[in-house]
Amino acid sequence: SPNERVVTEEEWLQKWEMGNIGFHKEEGHPLLQKYLDVLLNGRSGLRIFFPLCGKAIEMKWLADMGHSAVGVEVSKQAVKEFFSEHSLPYCEEPVPETSGAKMFQSTTGNISLYCCSIYDLSSSIVGKFDGVWDRGALVAVNPCDRQRYANLMISLVGKNSSCLLVTVSYDPNKHKGPPFYVPESEIKSLFG
Ligand code: SAH
Repeated sequence: SPNERVVTEEEWLQKWEMGNIGFHKEEGHPLLQKYLDVLLNGRSGLRIFFPLCGKAIEMKWLADMGHSAVGVEVSKQAVKEFFSEHSLPYCEEPVPETSGAKMFQSTTGNISLYCCSIYDLSSSIVGKFDGVWDRGALVAVNPCDRQRYANLMISLVGKNSSCLLVTVSYDPNKHKGPPFYVPESEIKSLFG
């Protein structure tokens, strides 16, 4: 059953090593452009969270607009490629609360990428966010971890935050995922 499928962190690291990253897009996502006003809601200088960020160029895009981008990604290769492909100098620091985790921050300070599992983060480490761009994140989470993921996301957003979530629709009997098919009814029950 598709709902029992598990993709391990090791398998994700291998995808990066093999260059098996068809999910990465060189162009900014058209739905972020389309719904940018919903995300920003007239506000400036927001803290935007990018769960399971890969090397998504939308992080650079929002940082260039004056917001700060915070991502989490288990692959160190992905994080390093992000900074090198945008020629952004960065520094690397340990995350005191989480052994093994590293935080890579642009020297300008407005892009911070945590290299660890998202489940190692909490609001005491990363604070609260004004907005979330979830593309390739909920749909990449193992179905058995969805509730945990949703609870964590809810704990990381502030009261007046806006979150954009991109999902994919397909016949789950024909493709095993990821990206996993997450029915709208499940999104409603996860996030209310
Ligand atoms: N959001 C990105 C990447 C989507 S693919 C984009 O739009 O391009 C999903 C990414 O999540 C992969 O890069 C994978 O390495 C990472 N990942 C998978 N499980 C994770 C976890 N538990 N914590 C952090 N990152 C994870």
